[in-house]
Amino acid sequence: MVSTPHFTRFPDGPASALQALPLPFDSSDRSHILALLRLGDYFQDACLATDTHDHIIYMNRSAERLFGYRHGAALGVPVQTLMPDVELIKSRLDQEPARQTLLWRGKGRHRQSRALPLTGAVTHIPSSSGRSHLYVLRTRKTGGSNEIERQAELASLVYRNTSEGMLVLDPKGIILDVNPAFVSLRGRAESDVIGRHVRCLNSPCHDREFYSTMWRTVMETGSWQGEHWGQHANGELYPEWLSINTSFGPEGEPQRRVMIFSNIAEIKQAEAMIWKQANFDRLTDLPNRQMFHDRLEQSIRKARRANGRIGLLFLDLDRFKEINDTLGHAMGDELLKEAARRLSGCARQSDTVARLGGDEFTVLLDDVHEPRDIERLTRSILAELAEPFRLGVETVFISTSIGVTFFPDDATDAETLLNNADQAMYSAKADGRNRSRYFTASMQERAQTRMRLVNDLHLALDQNQFSLHYQPIVDLSTGQVAKAETLLRWHHPVRGLVSPAEFIPLAEETGIIRALGDWVFCEATRQAAEWRQQFQSDIQISVNISPAQLRHEGLDLDFWQAHLNTLGLASEHVIIEITEGLLMDSDDDRIRQQLSAFRQAGVQVALDDFGTGYSSLSYLRKFDIDFLKIDQSFVANLRPGSADLALCEAIILLAHRLGLRVVAEGIETIPQYQLLSGVGCDFGQGYLFARPMPAHAFESLLQTGVDTRPFRDGLA
Ligand code: C2E
Ligand code: MG
Ligand code: MG
Repeated sequence: MVSTPHFTRFPDGPASALQALPLPFDSSDRSHILALLRLGDYFQDACLATDTHDHIIYMNRSAERLFGYRHGAALGVPVQTLMPDVELIKSRLDQEPARQTLLWRGKGRHRQSRALPLTGAVTHIPSSSGRSHLYVLRTRKTGGSNEIERQAELASLVYRNTSEGMLVLDPKGIILDVNPAFVSLRGRAESDVIGRHVRCLNSPCHDREFYSTMWRTVMETGSWQGEHWGQHANGELYPEWLSINTSFGPEGEPQRRVMIFSNIAEIKQAEAMIWKQANFDRLTDLPNRQMFHDRLEQSIRKARRANGRIGLLFLDLDRFKEINDTLGHAMGDELLKEAARRLSGCARQSDTVARLGGDEFTVLLDDVHEPRDIERLTRSILAELAEPFRLGVETVFISTSIGVTFFPDDATDAETLLNNADQAMYSAKADGRNRSRYFTASMQERAQTRMRLVNDLHLALDQNQFSLHYQPIVDLSTGQVAKAETLLRWHHPVRGLVSPAEFIPLAEETGIIRALGDWVFCEATRQAAEWRQQFQSDIQISVNISPAQLRHEGLDLDFWQAHLNTLGLASEHVIIEITEGLLMDSDDDRIRQQLSAFRQAGVQVALDDFGTGYSSLSYLRKFDIDFLKIDQSFVANLRPGSADLALCEAIILLAHRLGLRVVAEGIETIPQYQLLSGVGCDFGQGYLFARPMPAHAFESLLQTGVDTRPFRDGLA
């Protein structure tokens, strides 16, 4: 029986066979193949497709029945098993131009080894590159005389009952017969068409050229198939799959032609739906990443041909995450929808505005003549998105950062262009957000250096490229070295010494900071234990902790504690330095828990770089901080009577009241030392006393001490 068009079979039929294709067929190849394979689901003929290695990648039900396989059982089987003649057929095909269909007659083999006399057509589809090949075979069994009668009977049964419209033509194209399905499909009576030329069915959607090519193919190869717009007697047009086949007489002369029409409107609709889902963002209705890539590739091809220029904008909404977190995802979605609307409003009809995901958007502009055009666009986007967003009862303000890059000026392929625009966007963020930045070569260079550093960083710990330097922290009242801050150093094999300011952020992003932080802690505390023993010094060792070490799974405190126990070093001799930002994340309970676990274990906590962040004194109380380190930027500008001095004095006063002691960082001059000492600062650290130095140098310092007398002598 002819299989009726059955939509549910379509997704696991040709489309999935196509997905399984590991071949570099491009989209036009693919749609051609899909069209061919789709036939398999509609017709009585056995239909199968093979890949470059002659393995079966698709087989319809008729083929499974013909060759005796269970559903899906023949996938992956070499086609030679079923069709021993296939080599012969292929070698014939190779002499034909690409995509030609060859009619053949030969032998097949049933799964139970029975020989099957077969007749059919095979089509060869090379990929555009010519390196891969797909064969689509359509075949059916031929029979002896009894068989012929039986088949004729069967055919007539099918002809009368199938839901596909069929008509039979003589070789000149005169309609000899139509089946009932045709009558209902086209709404035309038998008497209305029988005896007339088939061109009476031509549809206004196709031109003369279309029909003449179609019939020429039928004359030459015996068959044609493809999409066709059919017209109902009431004038309505609908898409149909049309297939024309020829039966030949004993001398090979055409005797009859059979046309089969199946309505594919539903499938088209489903296809359109699937296509939309695959290519458009459901929230904003904008093209999605996939579609954007297609359009970008297309624009690049066009611009290459026409020597044109393309502009690419990459946008990221500033602080969108905060809105999402505070107002909830539903509001976040509303904001994205509205932002998409405003963005589309700024762009021209011909531009592509897409949403790549999250709060990332792109705008693709073809035919950019003047960079000024872009200037106007970015300005209007920035202004539009800065307007208030009304989300329910809330009014929200956001801004956006835009990166701009051009083809062919900055790059000539899609991926690099997108990377460039992304980098430029980051630089817009780094420059303070709510602005646009053009991509520059130096951005590229920075990004590349960064990437190389990240790679090297992965190896550095294993290859012992890190070491620790120590900088003394001096008790300002006695001049004694009271503590040492541990500062990490990376000796890069090629670049030499790399600053922690450069590599710590990379280590944080890549997660390497966890292993690195453990190493620093173990090494620094080992060193401190050694010094205590060797010099009977009661120096405290201070270790910087990155927020990233405390987030997610957090630190392995048991491991740290066990390490201290083995060293015989009391926790009181260890200080960890954290930054203010970490305390602001205090709704992250884990961080609070870990800090208090440290404190309970006896480890002291110093708040580093105080004054550069939120400088909230209420946090100091909440978190049980022991030391406060005034950032060097305040110390640098200390002068008698200066605002910074007043600020330092106020900080010290308050800190003391809260029971904290204060370390001033970055003391470089005697006046700075004296001023800080004068306002009651407890400790000082800076080049004036000593620069950070390797362990062996620090040992001599431990022995000699820092002589602060000359500075103190000058004190009034
Ligand atoms: P920080 O913790 O605030 O460290 C003080 C920084 O100031 C050090 O820079 C030190 O060399 C520098 N410094 C000290 N005295 C003076 C001075 O008188 N004048 C000037 N201009 N600078 C002075 P360094 O060693 O480059 O470290 C920079 C930052 O890297 C550190 O700032 C810290 O945040 C981070 N860091 C260093 N080692 C580690 C580590 O082991 N782990 C983590 N997580 N971060 C680290
Ligand atoms: Mg520090
Ligand atoms: Mg600091």
